Formats: sequence, C-alpha cells, structure tokens
Amino acid sequence: GRAGGYRILHEAALRDYLAGLPDLAAALGGQPAAWSITEVGDGNLNLVFIVKGARGGIAVKQALPYVRLVGESWPLPLSRAHYEYLALSRQAELAPGLVPALLHHNEVLALTVMELLQPHIIMRKGLIAATHYPRFVEDITTFMARTLFFTSDLALAAADKKEAIAAFAGNHALCKITEDLIFTDPYRVAEQNRWTAPYLDALAASLREDMELHVAISRLKLKFMASPEALLHGDLHTGSIMVTDSETRVIDPEFAFYGPMGFDVGAVIANLLMAYFASAGHERTPGERRSFEVWVLETVERVWSEFERKFLELWRTEAAGDAYPATLFVGEKGAVWLEAERQAYMQRLFADTVGFAAAKIIRRIFGLAHNIDFELIEDPQRRAISEARAVRLARAMMVETGTFRTIADVTGAARKFR
Ligand code: ADP
Ligand code: MG
Ligand code: MG
Ligand code: MG
Repeated sequence: GRAGGYRILHEAALRDYLAGLPDLAAALGGQPAAWSITEVGDGNLNLVFIVKGARGGIAVKQALPYVRLVGESWPLPLSRAHYEYLALSRQAELAPGLVPALLHHNEVLALTVMELLQPHIIMRKGLIAATHYPRFVEDITTFMARTLFFTSDLALAAADKKEAIAAFAGNHALCKITEDLIFTDPYRVAEQNRWTAPYLDALAASLREDMELHVAISRLKLKFMASPEALLHGDLHTGSIMVTDSETRVIDPEFAFYGPMGFDVGAVIANLLMAYFASAGHERTPGERRSFEVWVLETVERVWSEFERKFLELWRTEAAGDAYPATLFVGEKGAVWLEAERQAYMQRLFADTVGFAAAKIIRRIFGLAHNIDFELIEDPQRRAISEARAVRLARAMMVETGTFRTIADVTGAARKFR
C-alpha cells in the first residue's frame, strides 16, 4: 500500500498509485484501466512517465536510487527528488508560468507529479532541427534574472538567505557529480571520459597537459563550491528547457543548490554555442542553416544583454537585502557610486559566465555525458570538426576570460572559429 517504503513504480504500480489519489484520478478522467502510461525519460538519472486519461494528462517523475545512465553500480540519493520539488516550488513563485505546475509530491517514493507539457518539445531537439524560438530570450532571461536576484543577498535578509542555503545544503551528492564530471574528469585520465576518437585523441591529451587550463578550471571549481550567491537551477542546459513557438518551460532542477549565478547563465550560453558549432555538421547543403546560425548567435547576445538589463532593473527597484546597505549610499553621490558598483558587479558576473560556459562545453566533448547536438552528427570526422571548433573557443574563454569584455566578443570569436 501507499504507506510503505520506497519502491520503483513501473506501469501497473503507478496506475494503482494514481488511482488512489482522487484529484489526480479526476484530472485524468475515465477508468484507471484505460489510462495510457508511457515511460519517456531520456535523461541520465530518473524515470519519467506520461499518463493520459479521457480528460487530461500528467507527467510523473520518480528518482531511482542510482544513476540511470550507468546503473546500480553508481548509487545516488533519492533525496534529490526533494530538492527538485523544493526548487520547482520556489521557481514557480519567483518566475510564474515558466516551470511546470506541481500537482503532487511523495517524499518517500521520491516522486513528483506535474503538469504535462504538451506540445512542448525539448529545446535541444528543436535547435538540431534549426528551429528559431522567438519567445526564448524573453522567457529564459526573466527566469534567470528573477530566480537569481530574489534568492540573493541583494533581495534577502541575511538570516533568510542563510536558512535558504541550509535548506539546499544536503543536495551535495548532486553537486559532487558536477564537481567531478564538469570540473575535474575531462582534464585527467578518467574511466568515464570519452570523445570522438581517433580524431580528438590529440586534443584530449593536450587538455591533460594544459596547466593554464587546469588552473582556470580549478578556479571555476572553487567558485562553484564556495560561492553561495543564489539558488541555482544547476543543470540549465537546452535539454532542461521545453518549448513551443510561444512558450518556454524550465524543467529538471534536481541539481539545485546555492552557488554562483554565472553557472546558470553560462549553461544557457554554452548550450547555444554548442548548437551553433554543431549546426555545420547537420547541414545537408552548404548554407542551408545560415539563418538559424545567425539567429542562435544573436540569441547568445540577447540572452546576456536582456539578463543583465532585467537583473539591474530588479536591483534598482527591488533591493531589500542586507548587501549594499542603502545607508552607505545616500544622496546623489551615493547613487552614482552604487550605480557604478552595479555595473562592476555585472562585469564580474559576466566573467564568471564566460568561464562556466567554457567548462560546460569541454565536459560535453571529453567527459561522460555528451549531448545530441554533436552526437547526432553521424560522420565522426565531421562531428570532430564541430567539436574541435567549440573546444578552441572554450579554451580561450576559460584561459583568456578577461579578453572577453562583452558578449559580442564571445559571438565574434565563435564566428571566427567557425
Ligand atoms: P532527468 O532528470 O532524468 O534528466 P527530466 O526531468 O529531464 O529527467 O525529464 C526527462 C524527459 O522527460 C524530458 O527530456 C522530457 O522529454 C520529459 N518530461 C519531463 N518532464 C515533463 C513534463 N512536465 N511534460 C512532458 N514531458 C516531460
Ligand atoms: Mg533532464
Ligand atoms: Mg540530465
Ligand atoms: Mg535531471
């Protein structure tokens, strides 16, 4: 029965479980025996079922006690479902309409029921198909500006901020995955690493010898570990964003914790840059995807500039936190100095964003978890060409971060390396 401990709910058990929840059963409609239940999880960690009845549909996500991609030999705490639920709840308050509505959560089963996103598709798939998303910049920059600003010391009282950090501090096993897979393994010999061999063998070896890069990635790792600036999504790649022409929804915040803001912003920018570099590999006739490629780099620029604009606007109008006390910045002189400091803060955040974006690119090409932008380029030689271009840009972004003063410096370099 429902009072029992954790068990994996496959189709029959899930049907019984949902039938026992009157609100959800009513939302689905019709007889439970007639509900269709399909497992659609394409991620690395969890089970996701889509359930449809006579009236409506829902999505059900259940954490497994191990990493789905690897199997039972790599255990992973079920508590990540708790943090995902907590983060989704907070994001729903701060960025209404930009995450799926929560319908039910069972802590013991590590199971969450949410709104079925339909006909939304995973954005990464749309980008591979060269689709333009006109709403994307507006929505993702609202999501990031609001979730990051309102969970930071710019918006929160010190005690509330520390309580909030504590509420997510137990999600350290998920942080450790990031610390290992993004910030460590791609730069050393690690069993789980892989790359497009033999074409990238020399590049993989050069990463392992590159001490400038090892220093740069270690600084980023330390920043990730030791800078609880705001509540991060923690896995904000284009596989965690579902879209239609007119809607954007952010899913899958199980890596949520208090960390450096640039990690989320950098994730979005990195994944757009990878879509750009992969685009050449998906081309069947030369120039066929040019308008997509123009759009995607324009989108990189607008993601940063709109994020920056919205974040600064929130800071000017909604700053209620204990950082930058108003009593230290009184009068016209205070206002001038505070505004200059806001600009300096955004410049530091931009540098973090550039560095974290680079880290996100390199791990997708040499680490355990690759992305289909590159993987779906069938000819390995062509794939390696796209990947090597992305890596060249990423190395420059990580080691010469200071030379990227504006987002146009990033897109300009991307065009040059293409
Ligand atoms: P994981 O943590 O294992 O990566 P995700 O939360 O990313 O799991 O979900 C895996 C897949 O399930 C997504 O890529 C998407 O295709 C589908 N999915 C997840 N949530 C929903 C939803 N609310 N509506 C429709 N499909 C969803
Ligand atoms: Mg996912
Ligand atoms: Mg994932
Ligand atoms: Mg996930």
